[in-house]
Amino acid sequence: MVRYEVCFAYEVCFAHEDASLMKYGFAIFDTTGESSQLNFFFIFLFAEYKDTAICVKRILHISNGDTSYAARHTSCPQMRILHPRKEYLMTVKTVLDYLWTLAPEACRMSWDNVGLLLGRKNAPVRGVLVALDATAAVAEEAERLDCQLVVTHHPVIFHGDKHITDADPLTEVHLRYLEKGIAVISMHTNLDCAPGGVNDLLAEQLGLHNISVLEDGETAGLIRMGELSETELPAFAGFVKQRLRCPGLRWVDGGRPVRRVAVGGGACGEFMPKVLAAGCDTFVTADIKYHEFCDAATLGLNLIDAGHFETEDPACDMLAAKLRERFPALRVCRSAHKGCIRFL
Ligand SMILES: [Zn+2]
Repeated sequence: MVRYEVCFAYEVCFAHEDASLMKYGFAIFDTTGESSQLNFFFIFLFAEYKDTAICVKRILHISNGDTSYAARHTSCPQMRILHPRKEYLMTVKTVLDYLWTLAPEACRMSWDNVGLLLGRKNAPVRGVLVALDATAAVAEEAERLDCQLVVTHHPVIFHGDKHITDADPLTEVHLRYLEKGIAVISMHTNLDCAPGGVNDLLAEQLGLHNISVLEDGETAGLIRMGELSETELPAFAGFVKQRLRCPGLRWVDGGRPVRRVAVGGGACGEFMPKVLAAGCDTFVTADIKYHEFCDAATLGLNLIDAGHFETEDPACDMLAAKLRERFPALRVCRSAHKGCIRFL
């Protein structure tokens, strides 16, 4: 059995009321022990030790630790322990507070349901799984990956369920999360609209320039617009398919080259008239119905349905990357689950 006798210093990014602690914080990770039982301890060093970080390592596991033991095993004699470890434990609320800064609640649509939708806000979190949907498979995946929190784009509770029981297969999924003690935070239309969110990301992925927001009262932010150097529609559709890794793509030709493009991740077909009124020749969205395609062709709009999952899932990569950056001590996993729709 492999044993470790190494301490790693690592800058701490845990949320704490006292910002000065975060600024000067270091954690000492004591990886003494069997590989399957790694322990580490949070210890804050004096500011002058900021440059003494030995090595940057990803945190593997959190368990109860004896800080005095870590003190004996560090080479920094002036180290002082300001707080026991438990005060720096990440909680669901720590993650939620940060996610609100990325996708403010004020950006959500009035009909939407966002935030912490399942679980306890003070529950400790060692790992977070980021997924587009909180399905039963994602609950199993989170449990397997030792994630106590799942962050999704689509709200895990959306239709105003009156009970959460196993009588209904749809609410039985909620029950699984609750029984496993896995919390679920959903960032939906607030993430669609937020700067740098779903739609900004989609516009950037498709190489649009001069990106702007389609203003439309309450729904401002659900659609982004931008420009491209003139391209023929089949070539642009092929580019969208390749860029978003779509298993298939449906489109109609509005009879115009692609120059001014609107994008709306997920089901945004209803915005077609507004997109046209804003002078766009091409609209990339998802969940388009047959008659909407027919209307688009008649109205002279190139309409591309690139898939609901494909237009929104890249935002989950972004969320995972932001969480890793903000909380280096947190184990952030990306769900392996893809959209539920299959193509032949
Ligand atoms: Zn969606």
